[in-house]
Amino acid sequence: MKARPSFPVQLPDRVAGVLPVKPHAHPVSQPAQPLLAARKKTAPAVPSVSAGLGMDSSAVRMAMVHKLAAQGLTDARVLAALGRVERHRFVESALANQAYEDTSLPIGLGQTISKPGVVGRMLALLMQAPACESAQGGLGRVLEIGTGCGYQAALLSQLASEVYSIERLRGLHDKARDNLRFMRLANVHLLLADGRIGYPKGAPYAGIIAAAGGEALPQAWLDQLAVGGRLVAPVTQPGAGPGQQALMVVDRTAQGFTQKMLEPVLFVPLKSGVA
Ligand code: SAH
Repeated sequence: MKARPSFPVQLPDRVAGVLPVKPHAHPVSQPAQPLLAARKKTAPAVPSVSAGLGMDSSAVRMAMVHKLAAQGLTDARVLAALGRVERHRFVESALANQAYEDTSLPIGLGQTISKPGVVGRMLALLMQAPACESAQGGLGRVLEIGTGCGYQAALLSQLASEVYSIERLRGLHDKARDNLRFMRLANVHLLLADGRIGYPKGAPYAGIIAAAGGEALPQAWLDQLAVGGRLVAPVTQPGAGPGQQALMVVDRTAQGFTQKMLEPVLFVPLKSGVA
């Protein structure tokens, strides 16, 4: 496997900054107990979350995981990651009591953290990349477009060997760095750049995942996908009205690319430039 670049890396012209997430004091909370219960057909009631989640959020997080499993999310690796990463740390404290509901929430600058159900679905699709199957369950290098608050990057860190995550808004790039610091994730690399050009230095990627949708997939993403790799992204459907997107999955094989459109989704728009 290709060694990851050391940091600070040399940046392509339009990449304004790259930040490895520096280790800090708190460990990731312990992996949730066996996900066997996740196979249950009926979801347990979500415990009510009262004043803050600081003390012990694992019960309410596991309730979320069980609920997502009951709704059809079956990938044990993704469920384990959702059980481990403390979503309430990625939203404003005033919204922390909604952090384990299957809902998107504002993260500032007009952007949102995606619904856990959609995040889980996209990650499960990514984990079905042919390259992942052959790597005995783990993904190699992954590119994320749209770091936002860093939640999905934290999940990806549990599933992939290296995560390159690009955000175009400096305020969110900084926020993600702050949010992720406590997790000590040496394999997450945050970049401030226009994600439409991807990040050639980390390529080829076993997985590429976008949290913002445009009308067409940028050519750079296809170019940077490894053979055996998979891209999962929201794409505005041709002829559809504004904001009408569907999930697109593209696999790269030795022969070329295969693509399929899946269910409708709603993501923020993929924009150009750094702001
Ligand atoms: N994965 C994020 C979701 C953030 S919402 C999370 O877990 O919080 C999508 C993000 O995509 C927004 O922060 C938006 O600023 C960003 N985005 C939109 N266009 C972009 C582009 N061209 N390059 C990088 N980021 C982009």
